[in-house]
Amino acid sequence: MKSIVEPARSVPVVAEPDVLVVGGGPAGIGAAVAAARNGAKVLLVERYGFVGGNLTVAMVNPMFTFHDVNGNQVIRGIAGEVVERLVAKTASPGHVTDLTFDNASMSPFDPEGMKLVLFEMLREAGVDLMLHSVFADAYAEDGKVTGVIVENKSGRQAIRASVVIDCSADADVAARVGAPFVKGRESDGAMQPVTLFYRVAGVDVGRLKAWMKDNRQLLKDSPTDEEIDSQSALAFLGMKEIIQAAVERGEYPKDAAPRILMYELPREGQFAVNCTRLQGIDGTNVRDLTRAEIETRHQAWAVTEFMKRNIGGFERAYVLDTGVQVGVRETRHIVGDYTMTEEDVLSSRAFADGIACGTFAIDIHPPEGEQQVFTGSGKAVYEIPYRSLLPQGVDNLLVAGRCVSATHNAFGSVRVMATAMGIGQGAGTAAALAASGGIGVRDVSAAEVRRLLVKQGQYLMEADGVEKVVDEGLRLTKTEGSGSAASHHNPFAGRSGS
Ligand SMILES: Cc1cc2nc3c(=O)[nH]c(=O)nc-3n(C[C@H](O)[C@H](O)[C@H](O)COP(=O)(O)OP(=O)(O)OC[C@H]3O[C@@H](n4cnc5c(N)ncnc54)[C@H](O)[C@@H]3O)c2cc1C
Repeated sequence: MKSIVEPARSVPVVAEPDVLVVGGGPAGIGAAVAAARNGAKVLLVERYGFVGGNLTVAMVNPMFTFHDVNGNQVIRGIAGEVVERLVAKTASPGHVTDLTFDNASMSPFDPEGMKLVLFEMLREAGVDLMLHSVFADAYAEDGKVTGVIVENKSGRQAIRASVVIDCSADADVAARVGAPFVKGRESDGAMQPVTLFYRVAGVDVGRLKAWMKDNRQLLKDSPTDEEIDSQSALAFLGMKEIIQAAVERGEYPKDAAPRILMYELPREGQFAVNCTRLQGIDGTNVRDLTRAEIETRHQAWAVTEFMKRNIGGFERAYVLDTGVQVGVRETRHIVGDYTMTEEDVLSSRAFADGIACGTFAIDIHPPEGEQQVFTGSGKAVYEIPYRSLLPQGVDNLLVAGRCVSATHNAFGSVRVMATAMGIGQGAGTAAALAASGGIGVRDVSAAEVRRLLVKQGQYLMEADGVEKVVDEGLRLTKTEGSGSAASHHNPFAGRSGS
């Protein structure tokens, strides 16, 4: 390949925060707010004009999953606060029953409300924001990350920081400084497919519910009338057989997911649709991303036409908007000091350096294009260890969110948005301790991070040999719509394809 040599140039240092967070998705929000609340001077860099990552950019909905199978809220802290604030703005019904994937709860929200709530929380915490700025490069001296370069309308700018937290989802910072990473599945590097989420509006929910009752055999687990009526936010999954026939007739895009999956949003007649799909896309390859943006938008319109013709209540529905960009499920996973495994998730493992909990089952959209595979956990909740946030061979750098060190299968659970925000909170808390103590991120006391997290409202597990940090006063009872209401669908009973 031909190349040109860029001339060396001097780049102005425009900010010197204690903690620099790259990427304002769920992980970045958790990290920035936590670091600032723990006394650090924080700068958050985000490439778009608003924050939220997949919560807003890719329009992914709902947030999974705050509750374990017993209805205990195991992700609290900043993520829990986000949902409470959304509820106060009528931008979310809160944590409600999930009729689709057997999780104890799901938390749908209005993406515009989410944008506002996140800005409010960042401002209240005193986080400095640099929007419209793309992370371009990073520098390391003696194995320590010392600064990054961003590109924006003001030009090329340098930022120096005591600690950098990579919340870019693609481990962009870690990759640039040469930290080791893997992509996708261990056997062949294949990654989960991409999906462009979009919103439809104009749905007659009353007619839809009536149609669901008349056609329950087309829906996963054939929900009862009571289940359909008791939903404060409808979740819809099914129509597999009808779609197969429609694909053969050319009336449903053959590459799209072979089922309808959608979630009712708080604004009347709106649903978030999770149906488009494209395999073989590497979200770190710009040509692949370009192809995915175009192809999935064509799919979105074709899927909506199918829904209008085949689902009661959708007769007057229309595409309201599509995500600002296609949703990328999986790219790089850093190789950290500890790599989480499927066994850690399924055996409900707690760690002495656990900094957040996860409770979503292992949800894999196989790169082969088969049906989604969903594997439950026996005990329903596990911890993410701090060591999985530490890229091997690099200091002053933490990674939070979907690119933490985890195998392809463990990642299938860790990746969801409530968990990502919890991991971010853990990272931000640790980064603030490193910055204030003038120590490396590997020298931070995990016990102190855990103590602060619990004190600040986060939940952590207790386990044999692990210091007890669960504050009984914080142990919640079942929240509305979760727990027993969800018990018809035992989340962690085993495998189910849907
Ligand atoms: C199609 C799809 C469906 C999903 N369904 C669900 C679901 O129903 N529920 C659920 O909870 N989770 C779901 N997930 C998973 C979840 O959305 C992600 O795994 C989660 O958002 C990861 O959080 P994050 O903060 O690591 O990354 P992201 O949410 O991707 O945020 C990364 C942020 O970094 C910014 N950024 C990236 N690179 C740069 C750069 N170079 N410079 C500046 N800024 C940068 C981005 O703009 C973005 O704001 C789904 C994911 C996809 C793709």
